[in-house]
Amino acid sequence: MEKTIFEKIIDREIPADIVFEDDQCIAINDISPQAPTHILIIPKKRIPRISESENSDAGIIGHLMLVARDIAKNKNLNGFRLVINNGRQAGETVPHLHIHLLSGRPMAWPPG
Ligand code: 5GP
Repeated sequence: MEKTIFEKIIDREIPADIVFEDDQCIAINDISPQAPTHILIIPKKRIPRISESENSDAGIIGHLMLVARDIAKNKNLNGFRLVINNGRQAGETVPHLHIHLLSGRPMAWPPG
């Protein structure tokens, strides 16, 4: 299977601005930021999207959320939003699970 853009970043085949990395995930600044802070938290395991995750992925998915928490804390983000786009209709463009961490501007609700 061809690597996703995020696997290429994880494997250092494509450069990225890395915010955090451990054995389970990598966090990078989004190349096209939609807010002053826009970070993607990406599992190293290739899970295409949340709807295709398995019960055995509970640990890694929980870990991604806690990494988002820690990044927000370390950056002193006052308010932030975590987003997962699942499927094209929801705006997914990269078929490799990732959490968007957005902050630094007022956020509308409902989201567009
Ligand atoms: P999605 O639309 O799938 O929820 O989010 C994919 C995100 O990946 C988009 O916000 C897009 O800007 C970002 N992205 C796509 N290609 C690259 C890349 O090569 N580098 C970085 N840092 N972000 C990327």
